[in-house]
Amino acid sequence: VTGGFVTPAISGRTFASVNPANGAVIGTVPDCSAEDMAIAIDAAAAAFESWRQVPAAQRGRLIRSAGQLLTEHAADLAALITAEQGKPLGEARFEVMLTAEAMFWFAEEGRRGYGQTIPDPMGNRRLFTLKQPVGVVGAITPWNIPLLALPRKAGAAMAAGCTVVLKPAEQTPLVALAFAELVAQAGVPAGVLQIVPTSDPGPTAAPLLDDPRVRKLSFTGSTAVGKLLMAGASRTVTNITLELGGNAPAIIFADADISSAVDSIVDLKTQMAGQNCLAPNRIYVDHSILDTVTSALADRVRSVQVGDGAAVGTQMGPLIDADALDRVDRQVRDAVDRGARLLAGGSRLTGPRWSAGYFYPPTVLAAVPADASALAEETFGPVYPVVGFDEESEVVAAANGVEQGLAAYVYTRDLSRAMRVAEALECGMVAVNENRIASTEAPFGGTKASGTGRESGHEGIEAYLETKTVALRFEPSPAGSR
Ligand code: NAD
Repeated sequence: VTGGFVTPAISGRTFASVNPANGAVIGTVPDCSAEDMAIAIDAAAAAFESWRQVPAAQRGRLIRSAGQLLTEHAADLAALITAEQGKPLGEARFEVMLTAEAMFWFAEEGRRGYGQTIPDPMGNRRLFTLKQPVGVVGAITPWNIPLLALPRKAGAAMAAGCTVVLKPAEQTPLVALAFAELVAQAGVPAGVLQIVPTSDPGPTAAPLLDDPRVRKLSFTGSTAVGKLLMAGASRTVTNITLELGGNAPAIIFADADISSAVDSIVDLKTQMAGQNCLAPNRIYVDHSILDTVTSALADRVRSVQVGDGAAVGTQMGPLIDADALDRVDRQVRDAVDRGARLLAGGSRLTGPRWSAGYFYPPTVLAAVPADASALAEETFGPVYPVVGFDEESEVVAAANGVEQGLAAYVYTRDLSRAMRVAEALECGMVAVNENRIASTEAPFGGTKASGTGRESGHEGIEAYLETKTVALRFEPSPAGSR
């Protein structure tokens, strides 16, 4: 990477990035420590003084150029995402496109740091607000959207005039380095974005919580780590945005278009092999259509082509690692042990074609009892636990009965019901007869244990701005003068 955008490890240690489809080492990156993180924060703090003075329009031009470079290198970036993360090439290419779009959006939003003028209760004053960059931003990103997580944090923060120290997930550091390379090539000055890869995230991330110059922390990942970071951020009262785990309900009412609901759910669960915080995790179906929906789901998932994301025709790639495979398998066993019926999939794919990767087939479970872990916990895998319901109020209560509140999906042709249920669900995002809930233009985020704050939309840049109120007194015109 050109221009000092990656912090070298003082120790000289490196770690490997591995392809989850075949176990091949793709490359090695510096294995940074807390000491290296502190150096990155020094550089970001120094760069902040000049970057904040760069007019927002000029910052926007540089961020837009980086977005343009992303589109020009889309094929290479997609191949790298597939190699590191496992998702099929088409999906990886879509991620690159969304990433470029997000860069274009924030390049423009940075120019819209509007304050307010406020009527003065006293006279002879003007009250107004300024929007100013918060300062140095710490960003911690996940492996499931290894590229798209970057513009939502670093793109937005840089556009707002902040400088960024970003720690990518240990499974996908190379994608973050490729992003930094293009940001450097676009002409963003050194120090504005620092990537700090590490195989030991807890200790290495600690300075992001303890250094008072880091004024904002934005994290995407598990609820467990989010809670640790939230507690840690209290030490320096650092502003924090948390995008944490989901456990989305998908509710299919009797009047829904069944085949489009089934397509929508399978589409969502196939992306990232179900390792998507937005993926439906619990499927509630009106009893009158339960058998039809369950068998349609089972038929539909049997046609999903599982394999190496780089191979032609693959629709669903591997899980990210052995831990992910164990968690999914454990939840499926637990549901079956408690009486659920297995209609498709159900165990790790084995044999010569699969053994070097972490492949799990789409798995449909019917009659899943309420106490199964597949309903209470986020699966983060291609599992479809189906549960029947009778009443709207009953299904809303069940949907809300978990600690998470990120996304929800509702399928119905009844507009009044759609509105009632969308308003009653405790979550940050609801999709009605639709599966694409996230877009650059709209706020993205969760309630309850799914996090605090929003990314994307106008809120996505507000997260990196402080509001300063100015009260300015002025002398009235002397009597008789004009
Ligand atoms: P994870 O929390 O283990 O890892 C996410 C990031 O946190 C990685 O960069 C990792 O290195 C880092 N990390 C781990 N321990 C840390 C620590 N002690 N201190 C600081 N950083 C630490 O999560 P995971 O299990 O690898 O990722 C999947 C989770 O992420 C799921 O729960 C999923 O729902 C969530 N997720 C949420 C969203 C969202 O927008 N809400 C998006 C994608 C993923």
